[in-house]
Amino acid sequence: MLLDELRIHARVFAEREAVDPETFPARDIADLFALGMLSAPFPRSVGGGELSCDACVSLVIELAASSPSTALLACMPMGLAAASAAAAVAAPSAHRATALEQMERVAADYAQKRYYAACNSERGAGGALTAMKTVARRDASGQFHLTGEKILASGGQNAAVFFSGATIDPAALPGSGAVEFFLTETTAPGVHILDDWDGFGMRSTESHSVRYEGAPTRELLGFPNLVELAQPWVYSHCLFAAIPLGCALGILRELGTPAPSSPALRLRLSEAQMRYEAARAYLLETARGWEAGASPAWRARVLRTKAYVTQDTTRLAAELFALSGGRHYRRSSHVARLLASSFAGTALRPPLPLALDMLAEGFGLDPNDS
Ligand SMILES: Cc1cc2nc3c(=O)[nH]c(=O)nc-3n(C[C@H](O)[C@H](O)[C@H](O)COP(=O)(O)OP(=O)(O)OC[C@H]3O[C@@H](n4cnc5c(N)ncnc54)[C@H](O)[C@@H]3O)c2cc1C
Repeated sequence: MLLDELRIHARVFAEREAVDPETFPARDIADLFALGMLSAPFPRSVGGGELSCDACVSLVIELAASSPSTALLACMPMGLAAASAAAAVAAPSAHRATALEQMERVAADYAQKRYYAACNSERGAGGALTAMKTVARRDASGQFHLTGEKILASGGQNAAVFFSGATIDPAALPGSGAVEFFLTETTAPGVHILDDWDGFGMRSTESHSVRYEGAPTRELLGFPNLVELAQPWVYSHCLFAAIPLGCALGILRELGTPAPSSPALRLRLSEAQMRYEAARAYLLETARGWEAGASPAWRARVLRTKAYVTQDTTRLAAELFALSGGRHYRRSSHVARLLASSFAGTALRPPLPLALDMLAEGFGLDPNDS
């Protein structure tokens, strides 16, 4: 049902983007909050939609086919909602009540349309969480403060809260992991949001850099060692893979509606349709395996899926663009915007070179796999 409602909204979002492809789509985000898409991964008990990971992937594909920037912006709070829900499930008993209470508060914030944005990536880290240089230091009152430089925080000034990874002194938090995640109000002192976004695609995401200078955090996300114990970000990787897939679908729809009279073109579009359907089936089947604390085998499967789907659908988008003709050969045409935005998929976490290195390092066939 949500997918049907989204389809109606997505047409409006595409019209808005055609008129203004550069400005943060604040009305789209407000509509997605109202629709329940951004809170879809939360359980119903806190006002969420309790949608499965594969259902959320389907929503992102549909949205990206119309408006990739809005789809990318939707992935960040959806990923955080899934992370918060995973924290509540995977929390050790000593932290369960806190994780549940935090999930209720974050979900209540979503009901107030407060936009939570990912502010994690760092220049030169290669997209690896373990290479983060941002540090979290605890003051005498127990509050953590962030110091470091982040890049590509989609949402920029429009975000109410950033979720950010940082390294921490293990003595400051018993049981902590190599990287912990924190929620920080964007209006807190020491949070400096720059104005340096000039994306190749995804123009309206406002994915600016952020400098933290001793910024007081609101709270730790989940519980100590969340990243290892709950594996919350693998969920987001499934959502990210849905974006270039949606871009390819958007171009296919644009070129295939109405069906062209040229037999050669119809054949090429049929081939494209098969590749799209195969990639979509692969991604949905993978996404169906999501659970908090994901196993190493499933994480490896997600890595393969994301690497495969982002690469192949980006290629597909480029091949379709070559067939699109002069009418679409404008910087601001819908097809050109979809093409440029599709390339963000390979850059999104884990970026393709890092993913390929990880694949090569971990390669091995499981004889029990069908
Ligand atoms: C449109 C868009 C929006 C984004 N939005 C967000 C957001 O909201 N929040 C956020 O936190 N991030 C965001 N990102 C960042 C993204 O998730 C990646 O983490 C980021 O692009 C990686 O940084 P880089 O490519 O600049 O890495 P660099 O560190 O500059 O590395 C450059 C390339 O070399 C590779 N590389 C470098 N070192 C290694 C190594 N040791 N091993 C293997 N490969 C290596 C990297 O994988 C990368 O492809 C966004 C990116 C894009 C394109």
